Amino acid sequence: MQFPMDFGVVSMIRRTILAVGAHPDDVELGAGGLLSDLAARGYEIFVIVLTDEPESTAAARRREEAISAFSMLGIGRDHLAFAGFADGFLQVSRDSVSKVRDITSEWFEVPDLVITHSMSDLHPDHRAAWQLTAASIRNTAILGFPISNSFLLTGFQAAVWYNVHKQEQIKLDALRNHASQIELGRISPDRSFTFHRDLGRLVGQGPVELFDLNIPYDSARSEVFLKQLLWSGVCSGTEIFNFRAGDLLMDGARHAAPLTVSTFHK
Ligand SMILES: [Zn+2]
Repeated sequence: MQFPMDFGVVSMIRRTILAVGAHPDDVELGAGGLLSDLAARGYEIFVIVLTDEPESTAAARRREEAISAFSMLGIGRDHLAFAGFADGFLQVSRDSVSKVRDITSEWFEVPDLVITHSMSDLHPDHRAAWQLTAASIRNTAILGFPISNSFLLTGFQAAVWYNVHKQEQIKLDALRNHASQIELGRISPDRSFTFHRDLGRLVGQGPVELFDLNIPYDSARSEVFLKQLLWSGVCSGTEIFNFRAGDLLMDGARHAAPLTVSTFHK
């Protein structure tokens, strides 16, 4: 089925997407392919990196790596903010919420979509990043991405996926900017695609960036936007949408495979 509204028309309206990561490489790892695709389609992407490492030289180096990585994804320096919270100590509080709102108020009133960590994550900063993002932007649908080394597989509800092979080279090139993390063995751009392949098996696909979805009650505008993304074929969705979002499932969308350990592990 063809979505009746051509995306060339939609692109005349300002469409804003906020991506939030706990650490300087998280957003690229979790959603770099999707974001580069959306940026190329003319969507305005804004990114907040929440924490910095305590040592100032390392912190500065990681910021530079993130700036380079995001520029390769099509996200410029003026669309990227570093909130400056301490790595390992991220918390949801009145102060941290106001800091995030101060940043986003310079960019938009309400974004069309938020992308951040999944709640199914064992890293305390990643979990806090989800909570802080949701507490700061309360009326927008949130896609949550897993990070391989802290992913809590059981309980994760696959909702939306992006076939990342479409942007594989751009994503790999972006991740290679995080040289400090590659040197320390914390990330491996090539191995990240092993994770995407495993995520793809959860939904019967090849390598995907996979997201869970949280929809606040008061987010109708955002739901329409998400529906457009699915209808236009940028992303695909599973059948977990319900309530008002029940008709988000478009023709041709695949049902999610049962989420069991045996389907996930090789
Ligand atoms: Zn992280």
